[in-house]
Amino acid sequence: NTHPVTVLGLGAMGRALAHRFRTAGVATTVWNRTPGKDPELVAAGAVSAPTVTEAVRGGHLVIVVLLDHASVHQQLDPVATELRGKHLLNLTSTSPEQSRELAAWAAAHGIEFLDGGIMAVPSMIGAEGASILYSGSPTVFDTHRATLELLGAADYFGTDPGLAALWDFALLTTMYAMFGGFFQGAALLASADVPATDFAARATAWVTAMAHTLPAYARVIDTGAFTDEVFQDLTFTKSALDALRQAATDAGITAEPLSGLAALVDRQVAAGHGAAAFERTAAALRTPH
Ligand code: NDP
Repeated sequence: NTHPVTVLGLGAMGRALAHRFRTAGVATTVWNRTPGKDPELVAAGAVSAPTVTEAVRGGHLVIVVLLDHASVHQQLDPVATELRGKHLLNLTSTSPEQSRELAAWAAAHGIEFLDGGIMAVPSMIGAEGASILYSGSPTVFDTHRATLELLGAADYFGTDPGLAALWDFALLTTMYAMFGGFFQGAALLASADVPATDFAARATAWVTAMAHTLPAYARVIDTGAFTDEVFQDLTFTKSALDALRQAATDAGITAEPLSGLAALVDRQVAAGHGAAAFERTAAALRTPH
């Protein structure tokens, strides 16, 4: 038994969400700023609303999935009264502070607010591997849990509406660092005419094996015991990163993807922490030296 849903924004992601709802038989109203994005959705049984106001009237759960924070305010501010008493879910990628601001705006207008971070691309919605991180109103999460689970695994992180975005961004930070390292590795091999596809096969296995070491790194970060039982110290790490920098220079490529990490390591060694664990870098990000 699901409540009717409204999807505001029919970009690639909004269309994927609305399609999934219709496939599961959820009553769905859709709206997009530029008309003409919804013929397939209408054919699948969705109601096309000509205005945001009419779209909001159609759903109990209103999902906003627009470009950014500014576009969300641009569309929702004029319909705040219409939203009163409804459940609002923001799936637009907004920063933690922007999510908190939206939550405060919603609270001031009597709107129950849940924020979400989508850990999937549109083609993954409703399929294996998709997950969405939520935080904010437990009422919205609990009331619509079955509906939300149609999209992917649904995990609730707590009442702070900024937490889902914080988790989302922490995961994306990890992901982009991995891609940056992969690009630098591929450029290094390209200097010897090795195609990136050959590199990818081996890099996938290596990254997967290394990913399994994250919990051990995390334990050291959490205890802050950077000088007991050090696995690899900062002096060792500095020499490894110096060698990678030299190899990049020799191959005529830039080492920029790794340079931020190398600078953090250099700074700690210069400050006399060479014997401390590499994991100390996580603490060094929060306090200088
Ligand atoms: P698209 O670029 O495909 O679509 C953007 C949507 O935003 C369109 O519907 C567009 O409307 C609308 N829009 C932009 N500005 C405004 C505005 N001022 N007023 C009203 N509508 C506006 O993006 P996606 O659908 O892919 O992404 C939507 C959100 O989902 C983003 O915040 C994105 O970060 C997030 N997301 C996307 C993922 C992905 O893989 N695609 C993954 C995780 C999150 P119009 O057609 O009129 O231009």
